[in-house]
Amino acid sequence: MKKILEKKSMAKSRILEYILTHEITSKAELSKELNLSMPTVLSNTNELIEKGLVVEVGEYESTGGRKAKSLGVNKSYCYAMGMDITANHVGIVLVNLGGEVEKRERIRLHFAPDMSYCSQLAKIAQDFLEGLPMKEKVLGIGVSVPGIISKQENTLLKSHALGLENYSLNMMGKLLPLPFYFENDANAAMLAENPEKYTDAVYLSLNNTLGGAICMGGQLFHGQSQKAGEFGHMVLYPGGKTCYCGKQGCADAYCAAGALLKDEEDTLEAFMERLKGQDAQTIERWEKYLDDLAILITNLRMVYDTDIILGGDVGGYLPDHMIELGEKVLRYNRFDLDLNYLKNCAYRKEASAVGVAKYFLRQG
Ligand SMILES: [Zn+2]
Repeated sequence: MKKILEKKSMAKSRILEYILTHEITSKAELSKELNLSMPTVLSNTNELIEKGLVVEVGEYESTGGRKAKSLGVNKSYCYAMGMDITANHVGIVLVNLGGEVEKRERIRLHFAPDMSYCSQLAKIAQDFLEGLPMKEKVLGIGVSVPGIISKQENTLLKSHALGLENYSLNMMGKLLPLPFYFENDANAAMLAENPEKYTDAVYLSLNNTLGGAICMGGQLFHGQSQKAGEFGHMVLYPGGKTCYCGKQGCADAYCAAGALLKDEEDTLEAFMERLKGQDAQTIERWEKYLDDLAILITNLRMVYDTDIILGGDVGGYLPDHMIELGEKVLRYNRFDLDLNYLKNCAYRKEASAVGVAKYFLRQG
């Protein structure tokens, strides 16, 4: 499939980027915000409308004279698929150019480092695509994996969750029915966020394991050996609880979703229900969790001095608890007077699958 826009001019590319990252805009706003002359905006937006990439979506309220037409992206211009691989499941989404999830599935599939798994994954992707009326408009399949990836060789260098080291992802990719792209799960979740809003930011992915991602100057920062953002293994309490990595006192042992659960049978949904029911033990566990999370957040804020996006399974529940969390953060952080840097994630569920799909929608 060809790129979204071929041989686009600089002005056109900036206009398109602006329209993609703002739900609604106008020609006057484009001219003002991008510092472009009105004739430049007019000719370029007309061209984008002709190509079908941009649509006139309505009219702005006006105090008099002609009403200004508002512009928005044509959401059904193209699509991308995202697959999120975990040890026992595959989450799949279809995302449109407007970033909306149009179809989602979650399938139980136990990961195994063999051909049979790769073939099953390819079959799942094929079945998902089959019957989609927009099948021809799907640009590619982004695959999110829980582990450290080397992009040059498409190798999964290390994954505790999948129990792997130095595993080539090429076979898995080549069996997929469309162009593919692999990304670490936390980096993928960062990609789900609006790049216009977060040029510099840190993403804290509070899932069964604790992941993180760093975005600098609008780009993911991977680090010297692809380990940037592994916040889960920063030591929060020396000599503390044993982490799955073998060390003691890692942030993962305190701030991953598992820290909230009573035993292996317990689930985060059940925990949140007990919390709503004011169960005393659950409240105590939640208070301690938020306190540990506040320490981690404060440490990250001191290092990066950027917005901190709270994502992952626990992050999805945090919008209802920002006051409690904020009070604790303020107790540890004596430098910031407000908490505007604490942000809730844009996608409460399936952020990694959505983000890795968006990789294809941002190409071009
Ligand atoms: Zn650890």
